[in-house]
Amino acid sequence: MKFKLKIILYWLKIIFGPKFKNIESVAAFQSKQLEKFANKTLIRSPYYAKFFALNKFQWENVPQISKKEFMESFDGINTQGLTLEEAMEVALNAEHSRDFKSEINGITVGLSTGTSGKRGIFLVSLEERAQWVSLVMTRVIKPKLFKKQKVAFFLRANSNLYASISSGLFEFKYFDIFKPMVELMSELNAYQPHILASQPSILIDIAKAQKMNEINIQPIQIISFAEVLHLNDKECIEAIFKTQITEVYQCTEGFLGASCKFGTMHLNEDFIQFEKEWIDDNKFYPIITDFTRQTQPVVKYKLNDVLKIKERECDCGSKLLAIEKIIGRDDDVLIINNIKVYPDLLARKIALKTDSFQKYSIIQVSANKLCIEIDCAEDYRIEIEHVFKSTIADFLSELGIENVEYGFQKQQNQIVGNKTRKIKRLHYEN
Ligand SMILES: [Zn+2]
Repeated sequence: MKFKLKIILYWLKIIFGPKFKNIESVAAFQSKQLEKFANKTLIRSPYYAKFFALNKFQWENVPQISKKEFMESFDGINTQGLTLEEAMEVALNAEHSRDFKSEINGITVGLSTGTSGKRGIFLVSLEERAQWVSLVMTRVIKPKLFKKQKVAFFLRANSNLYASISSGLFEFKYFDIFKPMVELMSELNAYQPHILASQPSILIDIAKAQKMNEINIQPIQIISFAEVLHLNDKECIEAIFKTQITEVYQCTEGFLGASCKFGTMHLNEDFIQFEKEWIDDNKFYPIITDFTRQTQPVVKYKLNDVLKIKERECDCGSKLLAIEKIIGRDDDVLIINNIKVYPDLLARKIALKTDSFQKYSIIQVSANKLCIEIDCAEDYRIEIEHVFKSTIADFLSELGIENVEYGFQKQQNQIVGNKTRKIKRLHYEN
């Protein structure tokens, strides 16, 4: 009950929260919130507390960080005195047993692979979960009074974060995408959701199943998250289900934005400050500071995504920054023997087995050949290549794919500014 009460309180806070008249009022709100955040949260983080001088937080001295430093300084950054080692152990155990009850002292511990393919650990408190749920309720899912909404959520791994959305307003069912598609479709058909939420590569399969009359569902809302939604896929899914897709920009580092009723992605600037490292006139790398986090502060954190600003103001009237397109989270799906291999599933299998690499890419160069490039220490190369090969082969074999050829190469130097795509397909059937 305490948790639901918290959700309602946060919900009211968002609904009756600041209404921004212009961009300047957004900036003024942020600067006030950042000061509060420093005094309330950063002071409790050993890593950030040292940036206080004369009782004032010295923002200009705080270094920009990436996922690598964020994980390396995990012990000092979090406000709970947790070590990376203990958090990682809890997260890996939960992942292997698939019971997903990964908590330490009431703090949810989650494992992510993200776009870089490297392991990340995130910590979320009950308070932060309540806030996340209320934000999702206002920005993404619209609760309907007097009618309970059934939500079908397709995820690669459940976590307490997502399960917490179950309440009087929603019934929530989690579909484990590690299961065979046929099984998932029959479960989905039996469930008959009002709301369907999944990554686009799975949404496409669901839409196809609907088109082939293998299933018959009538969702009133479809939510796409975790990967880039290509325009042609979007149009195809919307045409089949005759409903508009809500796009969610969510990653381990936070809930960053969602599309409005006009289909424009707006950044959650009332929760997160987005500093911009400009690439050209309208594209930038976001450097985020989330002033609502309390357990694991995210401060001046550079994301790999490239965001393209929308030139024209959105018709919905929101002053929160409108984004035309998210570029660079564009992992392709491999297709071997007509079976789809989802990049995030494969990346996750690899992340569970090894972390001894800087980066890697897996490229499908022909119908049944994968070319693998790993950037790692030369002393361990043979061993790591072996781990990659056996992990991929095991995973493919689970999907019913055998006789795949593997080629290994040293990682080529990437063009600066270009994001390294970890998994892609260069082979197309005629
Ligand atoms: Zn809008």
